[in-house]
Amino acid sequence: MRRRSVVVNVGGVMIGGDHPIAVQSMTNTDTADVPATVEQILALARAGSELVRITVNTEAAARAVPEIVARVRDRDVWVPIIGDFHYNGHLLLARYRECARALDKYRINPGNVGVGRHQDENFRRLIEIALEYEKPIRIGVNWGSLDQALLTQLMDENARRPDPQEARAVVREAMIRSALESAARAEAYGMPHDRIILSVKTSDVPDLIETNRRLAARCDYPLHIGLTEAGMGIKGIVASAVALGILLEEGIGDTIRVSVTPAPGGDRCEEVQIARQILQSLGLRHFVPQVSACPGCGRTTSTFFQEMAAEVQAYIHRRMPEWRRRYPGVENLRIAVMGCVVNGPGESKHADIGISLPGAGEDPKAPVFADGQLVATLKGPTLVADFLRILDDYIRARFDRSSEAPSDRI
Ligand code: SF4
Repeated sequence: MRRRSVVVNVGGVMIGGDHPIAVQSMTNTDTADVPATVEQILALARAGSELVRITVNTEAAARAVPEIVARVRDRDVWVPIIGDFHYNGHLLLARYRECARALDKYRINPGNVGVGRHQDENFRRLIEIALEYEKPIRIGVNWGSLDQALLTQLMDENARRPDPQEARAVVREAMIRSALESAARAEAYGMPHDRIILSVKTSDVPDLIETNRRLAARCDYPLHIGLTEAGMGIKGIVASAVALGILLEEGIGDTIRVSVTPAPGGDRCEEVQIARQILQSLGLRHFVPQVSACPGCGRTTSTFFQEMAAEVQAYIHRRMPEWRRRYPGVENLRIAVMGCVVNGPGESKHADIGISLPGAGEDPKAPVFADGQLVATLKGPTLVADFLRILDDYIRARFDRSSEAPSDRI
């Protein structure tokens, strides 16, 4: 059951309430490099990122923002663009008004807005500018940059307790308090309740889960969830999937980001693909038809089965832009590509459409099932092409809504 939260409008994308859990991402280009940043925003949006954050860390970056936003909009891409501010956000937003105006939301890290008296003054200045331009904010707490004054205060209080908690629990409480107290201050300065999103991020999975559970129980702000500094490769993907999967399954989280480190020269859009796959695996959203393929084993005689599964997957991704326009609902389709008779026919019947390839020693024939019924038996060198043709026909017959108006807008 999804936790109910208020709804925040971020540049036309609704976050919270019953709205779909939004996928977001962040560029890793130098924001002052306008062409590179524009291209990456476009790539992330095309990959399915529904919000894109850019760092605004220098005067050159702040100067570049209006041009970046204008160029993205010139390409008819309307993905909300969010500014990520640390240390000098109050100065940059006050000085570069077109930057403040162009962005769709400001991310504020309460641990990085200054110290002592200046912390409150700087935070207030950020809120005043957000109010002036009617922008929503995310108060994004990160345990790597936690408000040290608040943490020290809570550690001192904990030390005086007769039953002190372990230090980690105090850090978790400090993160939650930092988010909630910052939100309360923002509201005291005039920020509407429904223009605030919160996040508390750690790089440790159990801590992330526990902290977000507690935060969700104590407020109704929409929550942005993500494992910070998730890491590279399999580790980053698995840790993010486990952390987000558990929280989302408990109804916690209104927008997600997967913070994996790309390999050198790697594709930044990978984080969007992972985020979408997490939501799709949980059945919370559907973006592309799912291909179930068995892992293969000693019964699969050659690499043909793996190649076919990869070919079907690639075909779907190639055709999806057109299918999405022509065949609403096609993203819910389930396809099975199986390696032998053991689970092949059964899994294929559970899918909407599936093929069971012949394993070692089996008759070289591949039955195809659609809606649980045997519809064809394929063999020979044209087997893959024949299956893709049957898949096309099935999709056309089931999802064609050609009378409805298409939309290309992202
Ligand atoms: S379906 Fe057949 S080939 Fe695939 S893993 Fe199971 S036994 Fe092996």
